[in-house]
Amino acid sequence: MTNPNPLNQPIGILHGIGAQTANRLQKLGLWVIQDLIFHLPLRYEDRTRVYRIGSLKAGMTVLISGKVEFIDVVPRGRKSLVCRISDGTGFINLRFFHFTANQHNALKPGTTLVCFAEARYGFAGLEMVHPEYKVIANPDDYVMETRLTPVYPLTEGLSQNMLRKAVKQALELCVQTPELLTDWLPESILKQYHYPALSDAIQTLHAPDESVSTLALQNGNVPALKRLAFEELLAHYLALRITRNKTKAWQAPSFSSAEPTGKIATEHFIRALPFKLTGAQQRVIAEIEADCRKQQPMMRLVQGDVGSGKTVVAAITALLALTAGYQVAVMAPTELLAEQHKRNFSAWFEGFQVQVVYLTGQLKGNARKAVLQALEDGTANIIIGTHALFQDSVNFHRLGLIIIDEQHRFGVHQRLALREKGQQDGIRPHQLVMTATPIPRTLAMLQYSDLDISIIDELPPGRKPIVTSVIPAERRADVIERINSWVGKKRQVYWVCTLIEESEVLQCEAAEKTAEMLTQALPNVRVALIHGRMKSSEKDSVMQDFKNHQLDLLVATTVIEVGVDVPNAGLMIIENPERLGLSQLHQLRGRVGRGNDDSYCLLMYQAPLSDTARHRLGVLRDSNDGFVIAEKDLELRGPGEVMGTRQTGQMHFKIADLARDAELLDIVQQVGDSFFIHSPQSVQPLRDRWLGASTEYSEV
Ligand code: ADP
Ligand code: MG
Repeated sequence: MTNPNPLNQPIGILHGIGAQTANRLQKLGLWVIQDLIFHLPLRYEDRTRVYRIGSLKAGMTVLISGKVEFIDVVPRGRKSLVCRISDGTGFINLRFFHFTANQHNALKPGTTLVCFAEARYGFAGLEMVHPEYKVIANPDDYVMETRLTPVYPLTEGLSQNMLRKAVKQALELCVQTPELLTDWLPESILKQYHYPALSDAIQTLHAPDESVSTLALQNGNVPALKRLAFEELLAHYLALRITRNKTKAWQAPSFSSAEPTGKIATEHFIRALPFKLTGAQQRVIAEIEADCRKQQPMMRLVQGDVGSGKTVVAAITALLALTAGYQVAVMAPTELLAEQHKRNFSAWFEGFQVQVVYLTGQLKGNARKAVLQALEDGTANIIIGTHALFQDSVNFHRLGLIIIDEQHRFGVHQRLALREKGQQDGIRPHQLVMTATPIPRTLAMLQYSDLDISIIDELPPGRKPIVTSVIPAERRADVIERINSWVGKKRQVYWVCTLIEESEVLQCEAAEKTAEMLTQALPNVRVALIHGRMKSSEKDSVMQDFKNHQLDLLVATTVIEVGVDVPNAGLMIIENPERLGLSQLHQLRGRVGRGNDDSYCLLMYQAPLSDTARHRLGVLRDSNDGFVIAEKDLELRGPGEVMGTRQTGQMHFKIADLARDAELLDIVQQVGDSFFIHSPQSVQPLRDRWLGASTEYSEV
């Protein structure tokens, strides 16, 4: 007979947890008792010592004790009950907007109280609004807390007290029967990194005693927290590795059967290109070819700075699949990019008897039906689109390769879900993922630990570095004059508007105003506007006109951030660059410098600039290397920002914080890899502890 581990029982079996509370806890992701144990406090309150009232300052949340001096209902402003207490060092008012007659009577002058709340400035000096309080009949009976009080993340309808009681019961279970909570980290690792054992770490974080400094807790600088953050990062790493190992066990379509034809086609394709492939492109193509020859699905990430020529690498990979008789799906994060890929692929594959189709959410009715039909019956060979490719209605005839551009915009789950689509008779398509976001090595190791990585570390020859200057907005008139003379030289210009708000509407309005202003200021310049709220057909035609040099100046929101390619556009003005992340600015700037001529980027900031902002823009001025910039961005702002707030491909952690715990990433990989060899039995339970039933990184 098996005795189920009580920690895996639903929280509802705990004392005082009804069905309704259990439901609310589920909203926080808390289902079983073990989940409570890993639901750590957001912060702590200190009720372990009494502060002298005379020493209070506004903003302190503390415990005080004193005698009631007077109590009265004050009608001024909103009616309230005010009770003044004093401890001989000073006095403070307690204010209650909601009160009962009983309360009024219980707080008679001379009564001793203990109160806990934040001290704030009120009408008459410091006050505490609706403090927690206790009437103390005999001060000697009062028992002070010996541990900090945890403050947990909550959701509607839950109180701190409910959660504290529930967590307390969960912790008691662990204290009574320590073997319930297995410590999956081996002794040797705990020793090496000076980590406490799991049960100690848990107890410390839920109920720290006086030996733990509040400040250290706040900064995440206690071994207990580091240990759990490490364990959580490790679990995520293992989860991705598990996925990778599973993938390697699948069969993949072999492209080598078509090798002779494939080789000829590839040579033919490369010869027809208007340029010679760089050494880095050739190397990466060879890495990809080697993957595709194997019987296992390729899972490769190609990292390459903006303009390094990833698209053509993708096209050559596509050719391998096509000649072997398989379909190819190319997914881009925006319609603009998808459209550009459609144009490029259609042009490159002209004369190859390849049918390229296009699918986005905008495509409706019969046109959509026709595309879906062509995919299903195999008449379409390449499909290019946005995440519309994920939809259930999309079925492939024989999908052999999935290409995902600008991966950082997609979540891990999306990446894996698309692969499900191509699964047929136990065969899984190959997957090529491309990104221009040069994420620092340590982060890449965690985020992409299910992928092999290739780096295109060379730009096509003849590219001159973009000359970047940082100038204040007061010099707008000079900038406009510069545009005038630039356009006089038959060159083209981008003007990028940014806004602090995430509101697309406001961003578009700002861009509209700027376009109007520039149209008036520059009568001889053909100005057009492109923003995210335009129909894709409109965007397409504006972009096409700009590409064909029927327009000189393109005013844009950050929609042009990724991928857009117009070599004759060699001047870019970015308004309010201080509002964007360095990596995002670097990507934007990568729209220029695509031809062989000089190119310039003017970062036109709004004065005054903070020291950090000045420093950050300086980094961009002084470097054209995406990796250097990303490392600096990580240093200056933390990884959340490096990855960009709008980007969905982020990992979500309960405890770990990549900014705070960055130094753990190095050992996560080492320890993670050794787990598969030395403690394989711990891999799955450790993953499950932190990711539970989550399918975030698993194959559905
Ligand atoms: P990204 O890596 O940013 O996606 P693209 O694939 O859009 O870059 O390529 C940028 C530009 O460089 C395109 O105009 C492309 O045709 C061109 N290009 C690609 N490879 C080479 C090369 N080896 N030599 C010259 N130009 C190239
Ligand atoms: Mg690209």
